[in-house]
Amino acid sequence: MTDVLVAGIKVGMKDESKKYTSRCREMIEKQIVSRGVTDPLVLEAMSKVPRHLFVSEALVDSAYGDFPLPIGEGQTISQPYIIAEMTQSLELKGHERVLEIGTGSGYQAAVLSRIVYKVYTIERNNPLFLQTRKLFDKLKYHNIVTRYSDGTKGWKQESPFDAILITAGGQKIPAPLIEQLSIGGRLIMPVGGNFSQELIRLEKTEDGIKTTNLGACRFVKLIGQHGWNE
Ligand code: SAH
Repeated sequence: MTDVLVAGIKVGMKDESKKYTSRCREMIEKQIVSRGVTDPLVLEAMSKVPRHLFVSEALVDSAYGDFPLPIGEGQTISQPYIIAEMTQSLELKGHERVLEIGTGSGYQAAVLSRIVYKVYTIERNNPLFLQTRKLFDKLKYHNIVTRYSDGTKGWKQESPFDAILITAGGQKIPAPLIEQLSIGGRLIMPVGGNFSQELIRLEKTEDGIKTTNLGACRFVKLIGQHGWNE
């Protein structure tokens, strides 16, 4: 987005960013706070990440709407409220190293990166991987590390992780991801069938694994060795 001259007046960048700042504020109040997300770290992070820069030019105007949006390659960026809810349920404080499976547009990773110490994110779709890695560089998200791989296998060399967020749905939580979660760590994943899933929160404790169901959701498929077949 570069400044342009209209009738001799410089417009663009500044006016544009003001417009999106107020849309973002409205998104946080009307879609997120009103539905009960209260964690100040999540609300602050979402107010800092310019969601309109994570969607294609054609969808910029809808970027702050109360719905998911297509991001190409048959994939979608989640509805803002779902991102807020998933992030809040990880109970992050700031020092964590977090693994995300399914980089997609990069928006969820960007939100996490504004809260935690370091984000590791894996994408299996090469065009999306390349496009989003470039965007992270451009927007200077220096604490996000990207990888092109099957995320159902996790990222063993960098494990254990304090939190793991899986942004695609599968029939069960991949075993390697549970293994790579630290004791005391939290993991969130949409678990269920092809068309609808339940958002499952797992906590790994000294005494074992505790899971809770956060409610129905709908995500694209987690495809890989410990997920759906292609
Ligand atoms: N977090 C993303 C959501 C993208 S949709 C965002 O904020 O935009 C889910 C993504 O998961 C898709 O890009 C899809 O290609 C990816 N995906 C599916 N299976 C995967 C796997 N096994 N490993 C890594 N990425 C996967």
